Amino acid sequence: MANFEIPSEQWAQVLEKSGGPAVYKKIPVQKPGPDEVLINVKYSGVCHTDLHAMMGDWPIPTKPFPLVGGHEGAGVVVAKGDLAPDIELGDHVGIKWLNGSCLACSFCMQADEPLCPHALLSGYTVDGSFQQYAIAKASHVARIPKECDLEAVAPVLCAGITVYKGLKESGARPGQYVAIVGAGGGLGSMAIQYARAMGLHVIGIDGGEEKGQSCKSLGAMAYVDYTDSSQDLVEQVKKATPDGLGPHAVLLLAVSEKPFQQATEYVRSRGSVVCIGLPANAYLRAPVLDVVIRMITIKGSYVGNRQDTQEAIDFFQRGLVKVPYKTVGLSELQDVFQLMQDGKIVGRYVVDTSR
Ligand code: NAD
Ligand code: ZN
Ligand code: ZN
Repeated sequence: MANFEIPSEQWAQVLEKSGGPAVYKKIPVQKPGPDEVLINVKYSGVCHTDLHAMMGDWPIPTKPFPLVGGHEGAGVVVAKGDLAPDIELGDHVGIKWLNGSCLACSFCMQADEPLCPHALLSGYTVDGSFQQYAIAKASHVARIPKECDLEAVAPVLCAGITVYKGLKESGARPGQYVAIVGAGGGLGSMAIQYARAMGLHVIGIDGGEEKGQSCKSLGAMAYVDYTDSSQDLVEQVKKATPDGLGPHAVLLLAVSEKPFQQATEYVRSRGSVVCIGLPANAYLRAPVLDVVIRMITIKGSYVGNRQDTQEAIDFFQRGLVKVPYKTVGLSELQDVFQLMQDGKIVGRYVVDTSR
């Protein structure tokens, strides 16, 4: 078994108050409890959820400040508790949004652990992956095969799992059409590729030319620019399907409310609208008549369970999903949040915890 030297102090990005900013500073390295592992995080993806957490966008309390965000952490196990039998020092693992769950409630018993009322959330109710050494429950860490590149796999740990699960929840079958709203962002870029790998045709919806080019290069057969007011978005999405009746499923990944009100207008009859994005203070609104007489399903989808996690990583390992990412130092996290807030990120940013 490998032996690791663990420092007493480490670099981290720390939120000291709601609204931010994240402060790059040295903090102590924690010790894992009996059912936990200590992970030397090498890379962490930056999810829009981290920005929502910093801005206090949601009515769900975080742990008391200071808080270390981050929940797409890929790294190496360097210490473990006595109750983590199936994991070895040196194993490659991932920190997900779902850091741990009780494993005993009726949801956990049915592998619906994201719904566990006692779930621990990385970078939200427990410290996350924007630090060099992070703690996670051994039962929940993602198992990453050694041949996977830790930098490239990081975004799979939230974005990948979430969109893969959302596509399964949509019920769309190979050969059918799916509209991905927010297709140029982190989750969206992944969703295009998972959808393609699952045999679906993709209509990407986002704003601007650069995101359009990215969507096309990742495999979208059509791109609809929501910022182009000269065209009717609903008509354009429907027209992108060969019979003009609209996509069988819609994945809503956008960080604004409007598309959540629009999706039932272009989804195909008997189609499903899957809500995944979490814009602050947003509401769903749909005409009851349409939902009834066109038999539309509207549902939510929230990350994925441990099995979804391993399947999502397996798609990555087989080379079916390759996501565009840009790597910067952990010290530059606040700049990434700024770009994200301005809607300027195409794909994902990954932070390297060594700089
Ligand atoms: P991101 O900022 O990378 O991407 C969001 C994209 O939405 C951007 O490309 C933006 O241009 C686009 N967008 C904004 N308004 C739009 C509109 N009207 N129409 C089409 N596109 C629009 O964010 P991300 O990291 O991909 O996260 C997306 C959302 O998903 C966030 O709210 C995040 O919190 C949420 N999320 C949910 C889950 C879950 O389990 N349900 C998991 C992870 C993230
Ligand atoms: Zn996330
Ligand atoms: Zn539970």
